[in-house]
Amino acid sequence: MELSEIFYSLQGESSYAGLPCIFVRLAGCNLRCTYCDTKYAYEPEFTLSVEGIIKEVEKYYPVKLVEITGGEPLLQKESVELMKLLVKKEYTVLLETNNSISLKDVPDQVIKIIDFKTPSSGVCNSILWDNIKYFNDHDELKFVIANRQDFDWALGIIQKYDLQKYQILFSPVHKKLDKKILAKWILETGLPIRLNIQLNKVIWGDIRGA
Ligand code: SF4
Repeated sequence: MELSEIFYSLQGESSYAGLPCIFVRLAGCNLRCTYCDTKYAYEPEFTLSVEGIIKEVEKYYPVKLVEITGGEPLLQKESVELMKLLVKKEYTVLLETNNSISLKDVPDQVIKIIDFKTPSSGVCNSILWDNIKYFNDHDELKFVIANRQDFDWALGIIQKYDLQKYQILFSPVHKKLDKKILAKWILETGLPIRLNIQLNKVIWGDIRGA
C-alpha cells in the first residue's frame, strides 16, 4: 500500500479526541479542498504490505485505537483488508473518509468519520449521497465550517437527510473561522452538535505527525 506516514499521538478530533491513537495515513487523494492541511499526503513516501502496516501498528501495544486516514484511504482497495484485519485483532478502528467513494465494503465494526464537504471546500459536488445508506449508528459526521453559509448549509443537510441520530461534529477552518464564533452559533441552535477543534494543533501547533 502507498503511505504518507504512521505515527502515534493523541486523537485530535471526533468523540475520541484526547485518547492515545495510532495514525495510519495512506497516500493519495481524489479531491483538492481549498483548506486542505495534508497536501503532503497527495504523494506516497513509502510502501508497505497490509501485514507490514499491522506489524508497525502492533509496535505501539497496548494502544488499541487506530485511525486510518489520508489523503483518501478508500482509494486503495487494500484498505478494506487492512480494516478487516485490525478489527479481527480487536482494535477499535476509525476511518476518516471524504465521502466521495462508496462505503459499501467498509466493515460494520469500523467507526467511520465521514466528512461532508461544505460549499467553501470547493468540492461540495463530490458528495456521494448514496453513502448515507451505509452509515451505522456509531459513525460520526464531520462538517468543516469556514463561514455562516457553510454553517447554515450543514444544518440544512442534517435536517433534510435526518442525520440527527449520528454524532455531529462541526470544525472551524483553521485560521479562517474563530472557534468562539462557531461555538456561539452552535449554542444558539441548542442542537447536540459537538465543536470539533483539532486538539493536536492546540497542543503541538501546526506540525506534521502530531
Ligand atoms: S479530502 Fe482531505 S486530504 Fe483530500 S484534499 Fe480534501 S482535506 Fe485534503
